[in-house]
Order: sequence, then structure tokens, then C-alpha cells
Amino acid sequence: MNQEKISELKKWMSQKGLDLIYLTSPSTISYLTGFVSDPHERVLGLFLPVQADPFLFAPALDAQGAKDSSWSYDVVGYLDSEDPWEKIAKEIKSRYSKFTNIGVEKGSFTVDRFEKFTSYFPGSDFSVNVTPTIEQLQLRKTPHEIQLMKEAGHWADVAFEIGFSAIKEGVSEAEIVAEIEYQLKRRGVSQMSFDTEVLAGAKAANPHGSPSSDLVQKNKFVLFDLGCLWKGYCSDATRTISFGEPTDFDRKIYSIVLDAQLTAQKAVKPGMKASEIDKIARDVIANAGYGEYFTHRLGHGIGMSVHEFPSLVAGNDLVLEEGMCFSIEPGIYIPNQVGVRIEDCYHVTKDGCEAFTKTPKELKIV
Ligand code: MN
Ligand code: MN
Repeated sequence: MNQEKISELKKWMSQKGLDLIYLTSPSTISYLTGFVSDPHERVLGLFLPVQADPFLFAPALDAQGAKDSSWSYDVVGYLDSEDPWEKIAKEIKSRYSKFTNIGVEKGSFTVDRFEKFTSYFPGSDFSVNVTPTIEQLQLRKTPHEIQLMKEAGHWADVAFEIGFSAIKEGVSEAEIVAEIEYQLKRRGVSQMSFDTEVLAGAKAANPHGSPSSDLVQKNKFVLFDLGCLWKGYCSDATRTISFGEPTDFDRKIYSIVLDAQLTAQKAVKPGMKASEIDKIARDVIANAGYGEYFTHRLGHGIGMSVHEFPSLVAGNDLVLEEGMCFSIEPGIYIPNQVGVRIEDCYHVTKDGCEAFTKTPKELKIV
């Protein structure tokens, strides 16, 4: 349970004149309660009043797990045979005296559920959106969160090692993905933070390509983009390596991307703007003549979700602070020819940044 963040949230609520907030996103709920769960289609909610004690509402089958977590307030369970909305309304009305202004997470509350919930509170105002405030709360990670992200990063390093050694003549992208995930699961990493990407040769020129039965090609690059979910936190990293001797052109593209990544990494420190870091990397690639082939933002925030705030992108003038976590992932994608991306995620330190993943970045040839 994250008492400090709950207190910050309550302070914000009283400034906004909110009586109650209803948090619906499973990742927000695990962030604040310490209870990690995927409710699927069932209803999970955290009800946080400004004055009284909060309660967690969960499917009955998860209620014991929630009680056993670090959450120390009430847990209310509901059976599949009960109407969750009726039960929620009853709980709120019996526990709290004021619910005129109720804030909700508009970024994750479906319209369907919103209508069911609000029908029980006809006189209430639901205009305040809690989502941006939650994003702000999660911007700066605590030392404990950073420790868990280092562990998640370690597993990504292990995944690269498994993947690199699986490359051989006649093996397909999909087989390498299967090998990585099989070996990780055997070691207790039950989930990747997104679908593992292994892309051979020119396929890596599509930043969102998907692995198939296509085989790795001799003297071409293989791109690995992967991450693990570890104790609720994500890692995300990319390495591009060569299967056999790369061409001089491919080597050149690789060294430009590496230069962009290292230059941006060196520039990060508290006080810099997110947009400045993007520009520093983008300039390296543009000055080498390949600006038009770097087709996405430099990076994204990371934490309990693989994509969160802050974005390293033109126009985002957010000032970086110690504890913020994000990826730096420049790439050059020349259609039907070659694709290179190098990515690590970092946390901002007092005077720079530190990567969560340690796999070397000098061009590796297997
Ligand atoms: Mn990424
Ligand atoms: Mn990635």
C-alpha cells in the first residue's frame, strides 16, 4: 500500500472540492493498494473519500488475495450472482455522508460502466477527471519502485542472452520468441510486458512488425524488442545484432543509431526538458542524413505500464526530475532494406541517468 501517494491524492481532492474518487484502472489500483490483479470482465474499484477511510471493491474470488496484500483498509467482495453496481452504491451510501462531487478516471472508465455507476447517484457531479492527476503521481518513482524496475531490467538482459544464443541457420523469428519465453517461464518470469518482437533482416524496418515463421538471414540484422513484467513493474529494451558479417552500409546505420542513443543518454539530467532529449537524438540522425527514417518519438515513460508518462517528444516541455523513468529508443528504418533500433529504459538520477538494462550496445556479431 502506498500511503504517501494516497495522502497526496487526498490533498489534491480537497483542493478540487471532491468528496470521493472512484479509481477503476487495475494498474492505478495496484499502484495505490499493493494488490496486483487482472479482474478481466469483473468489477474492481478503489473508493477513496476525502474525509473517511477508503475501501477496495473486488470480485469475491479475489477478496482474500486483496486482504493478504499490503492493503490495510476494508475489502468488499461481490459474488458473480450479485449486481456489483447496486452493491457499490449501497456501500458508499452506508459508509460516507457526502458524495456530491465524485471524481473518476476518465482515461479508463468505460462509458457503459460509467452510466451504470452514475445512475445510482442522480444528484452528483462527475465532471472531474482523475486520470491526469494519477499520471502526475506516477511520474516520479520511489527508490523501491526503481529497485523493482532494475529487477525487471535484469530479466530483459537474461532474455537477450537467451535470444542471441538461439540464432542459427534455419531458425525462424517465432522459434526464437518461443525459446526466450519458454526459458524465462522456467525461471519464474510468468509474463512479458508486451509481445516479444524478433524481426529478421528487412522486416526490422517496420517498427511494429510481428514475428512469423520467416527465417533469420545470414549477414543480416536481427532486431529484438522485449520486456518482462516483474512484481508489477515493466522492462522494455531493444537490441539489434548481426547474424554473420553485416554490410558496410548496415554497419554505418547501426553506428548512427548508437551514437544518437548514447548522445541522448549522456544529456539526461534533472532540469532538461523532455523535448530537448528528443531533439538531441534526432539531430544526430538528421545530421547523418537519415532524419526522415526516424519515424517515432524518442521515448516513453515506463513503470507499472509499459507506456506511461513522460513522453520524450517534440512539444513536451516537461522538465525532467530525479526519479522519472523513460525509454530512449532511436531507430532508423529504411523500408525493404534495413531497420535498427537501440533501446534502454532509464531513471533520472541526481546528476544524470542510469539504465535498467545492461546488455552491451557495441554491434554484436553472432
Ligand atoms: Mn519502448
Ligand atoms: Mn521496446
